[in-house]
Amino acid sequence: MATKSKLKFAKEYLTPDGYSNTSDHPACPVGVKMELLTEMVPKTAWGSNVRDHVKGSEWDKIKEWCYKRSNYNCEVCGQHGKLQGRRHRVEAHEIWHYDDVKLVQTLVGLIALCPSCHKSKHYGRAINVGDDKFVRQHLKKINKHWTWKNVFDHCKNAISLYQERSLKNYILNMDYLKSEFGLDVEIHRQHVEITDEHIESIKAMDKYKSF
Ligand SMILES: [Zn+2]
Repeated sequence: MATKSKLKFAKEYLTPDGYSNTSDHPACPVGVKMELLTEMVPKTAWGSNVRDHVKGSEWDKIKEWCYKRSNYNCEVCGQHGKLQGRRHRVEAHEIWHYDDVKLVQTLVGLIALCPSCHKSKHYGRAINVGDDKFVRQHLKKINKHWTWKNVFDHCKNAISLYQERSLKNYILNMDYLKSEFGLDVEIHRQHVEITDEHIESIKAMDKYKSF
């Protein structure tokens, strides 16, 4: 049986000269490909993502593989950052699955997103920098069949789920990096004590659940 090389990146996934993430080629013509949903990483899981577990050069290759696969266009809306006045086209977003019973957070994939869709994925971060209104408008724009009530309910539910999950510590599973890229990573995640202060900071998000 053939074994995977240490780093499985095929040449086709590496950036050929002159074909970078800022190069100017047309947007994917397919339009809306999927529904845009916001996600919030539990506070107990902050600071331990793919980027923190691989070398900078490996992360660069993973990102490039992700961008190239989508032809440097957003896999949700089909557009790219240059059409949004940004210098770069797309960003890599990590897709996580949470097993709320076994308390395991599993990396299940990577997706290329335009800056606006990526910002919308991280609603909590958007709140912190005052971009939550922008995110709600972008959700409404991309999910054309949504009403404003759908948008508000979705954001409210995302915060509630974040609050629930932020009171638990999840085991991190990034086997995907091994199966997809042949990368062995040593998982490091610190256990977060659920102190009164931590609980207060989670509860404080309640104020963003009313509009
Ligand atoms: Zn997009």
